[in-house]
Amino acid sequence: MTRPTDARAGRRHELLKALSELRCDAALVAHLPNVRYLTGFTGSNGILFLSPGSAILFTDPRYDLQAHEECDCRVRIVRGSTWEGVWKHVAGRCRRLAMEADRVSHEVWQETARRLGRKAKLAASRGLVEKLRRVKSTEEADAIRASARLCAEAFLETARQLRPEMSERDAAAELDYRMRRLGAEGPAFETIVAAGARAALPHARPGDAKLGRGPVLIDMGANVSGWMSDMTRMVHLGPPSRGFLRLFRAVRRAQEAALAEVRAGVPARKVDAAARRVLKAEGLAGYFTHSTGHGVGLEIHEAPRLGAKSDDVLEAGMVVTVEPGVYLAGTAGVRIEDTVLVTESGAEILTPVGKDLLVLPS
Ligand code: ZN
Ligand code: ZN
Repeated sequence: MTRPTDARAGRRHELLKALSELRCDAALVAHLPNVRYLTGFTGSNGILFLSPGSAILFTDPRYDLQAHEECDCRVRIVRGSTWEGVWKHVAGRCRRLAMEADRVSHEVWQETARRLGRKAKLAASRGLVEKLRRVKSTEEADAIRASARLCAEAFLETARQLRPEMSERDAAAELDYRMRRLGAEGPAFETIVAAGARAALPHARPGDAKLGRGPVLIDMGANVSGWMSDMTRMVHLGPPSRGFLRLFRAVRRAQEAALAEVRAGVPARKVDAAARRVLKAEGLAGYFTHSTGHGVGLEIHEAPRLGAKSDDVLEAGMVVTVEPGVYLAGTAGVRIEDTVLVTESGAEILTPVGKDLLVLPS
């Protein structure tokens, strides 16, 4: 088989190769980002059956038109339970069927095994499609670059308008609105706007609290045609204190040190170690409580992982975040995050926004 030129058909071709290595003659894919990757389908209910001879997306009548428009494979509309339609299709059709063991419920797993029949075997696959998704093609990297550019633009249009009397919720809503106006499907995740001591909560949800005077942490990303981006910047309303500047500069240096490590062939944990080394020298290592980064693509968190215990090795074409942070409970938090493309010689930063502390009048 030669590799098809269409992106989705090419991805299915790669998955079939991986399946034959597992001695499987077919696969069921139910995790929606994987389904989207392999077929183009963006609905909320779809299961792909893939074998060397056929690719069929099973979905329900709500998606009749949409699925036929989006998918480059066969579409089967099932009334009632979609899984029921899938089970009827696979019964007696495969000898060894792979299914995403980490993505379906125990009930679905058991019933699929039963309906396959005695002579067939259900094989647990884990991360098969996710592994293909780790390295982005040129087109995929371009799509993430566009997403990151849109995210940056929305930030730049909004950040200068932040004022102490605005609430975190209003600021987050403004950022989301800008992203949608610029063409995003929506935010890649719930936008974080955390003011003052609340910035010390790495996953703070924007609330009614006013921004007030002091630091504001903004962590945002866009979803553009399914492709995510992820970026964190610090804004300061009114003049920053010396203590805060010290924190900010330490994180900034940690992020630069980590970025300097990024290139193809480097173990991901070395990137994490570089950030930690800088913070340790500042006596801040204990306040850096998460890993340095994660892969970004059709999901906001995907492989590889840039943490102290990661076994991943960076490859050209991976898109990852680099986001060290320090969190002093009750006082302040600082995080600086870019989405970057791993290349043979280094990191191409995809989030084009300056990293100086943006100081606004209070
Ligand atoms: Zn982020
Ligand atoms: Zn992130």
